[in-house]
Amino acid sequence: MKNFSRLFKPYLDNSDLKAIKKVFDKNWIGLGEEVGFFENEFSNFIGSKYCCAVNSGTAALHLALSALNLKPKKKVLVNNLTFIASASVILMNDLIPVFVDCDQSTLQIDIKDLKKKIDKDVEAMIIVHYGGASDNLKEIIKLLKAKSIKIIEDCAHTQGGEYQNKKLGTIGDLGCFSFEEKKGMTTGDGGMIVTNKKFLYLDVNEKRWLGINKKHNNKSYIQKDHNAFHWFYIVSKLGYKYNMNNLSASLGRSQLKKLNKFNKKKEILINFYLKNLIKNNYINPLLNYETNKSSYWLFGIRVNPQIRDKLIIFLKKHNIATGVHFYPMTLQPLFKKYKSRCINSENIWKEIITLPLHYDLSRSDINFITDKINYFFDIHK
Ligand SMILES: *Cc1c(COP(=O)(O)O)cnc(C)c1O
Repeated sequence: MKNFSRLFKPYLDNSDLKAIKKVFDKNWIGLGEEVGFFENEFSNFIGSKYCCAVNSGTAALHLALSALNLKPKKKVLVNNLTFIASASVILMNDLIPVFVDCDQSTLQIDIKDLKKKIDKDVEAMIIVHYGGASDNLKEIIKLLKAKSIKIIEDCAHTQGGEYQNKKLGTIGDLGCFSFEEKKGMTTGDGGMIVTNKKFLYLDVNEKRWLGINKKHNNKSYIQKDHNAFHWFYIVSKLGYKYNMNNLSASLGRSQLKKLNKFNKKKEILINFYLKNLIKNNYINPLLNYETNKSSYWLFGIRVNPQIRDKLIIFLKKHNIATGVHFYPMTLQPLFKKYKSRCINSENIWKEIITLPLHYDLSRSDINFITDKINYFFDIHK
């Protein structure tokens, strides 16, 4: 099977294997110093004071929202066009999700709809940088800040993308990344919470390992021999088993070294796609791609919903994997109770096709894919 038959594919090489081997040879593969090293390096890369590594992007979002310490049943805004995790974590925190529609052209948050959905019970927003884009972000942030609404950036689709010279993830109160296999860089499974606020960091750091705190000032611990009390801990907050381990962190460190290279290559591939498809009047690009200091997860197109599924089947026959990101949250049975008006996203998802985008794709792979797409429209005119 050729590489382009996969929609996403991690790029793993010998340096990744070496990094894992190093940890493996030390025989300490659980939570340990490697996790701390990865956090420091990610901190430097992203430009945030604090980083907390966890075992998934979902865990990162769950803890980040929990750190805001909102009263139960308060409302949290979130994109309607997103992966289920962005919305599920709101229910996990005993809060109410309010789904915000997407803009018809950018597929990012629709400002008009956002304004309609803000009320006195809204206390936070999870902004998903859908596909890795960040159109309208300035306006969105301005609006939310004016209403004192807390901001979590869901950066699962962008690792290193910039917005006005700041890395995405460092603009809100907290940023959450995913290092799941299909995402921009991987640790197998994994995630990272970034923030500049110490109290938020201390909260998520405690909760990622069952609320266990060994840096307390218990008297007998302080007065007696520290070493003899190594086993003692205090738990004052409900925590979760969400920590990253040394094996994942070692992979994260070696992947991080290659991240700029990954992002650059994806920019080149996106530009190939755009060039090859520009003359096809039946297609619009999924996003307004701006390939400068970007980190997009998705390359996709929008087509007439009447032929969308036909095209998916046609491409599959030619061994080209596609996807649909995403089926809107307001259509999911889980969120039936929280349904609100989101007309754009409930229509647009029917136009969407995501195409292969990963480091191993070549120019000739892209030519093959776009030839097939252009041929499909020649015969379906
Ligand atoms: C992938 C993804 C997540 C969850 O990440 P995991 O690491 O798989 O838990 C969260 N939000 C969005 C938008 C995603 O695409």
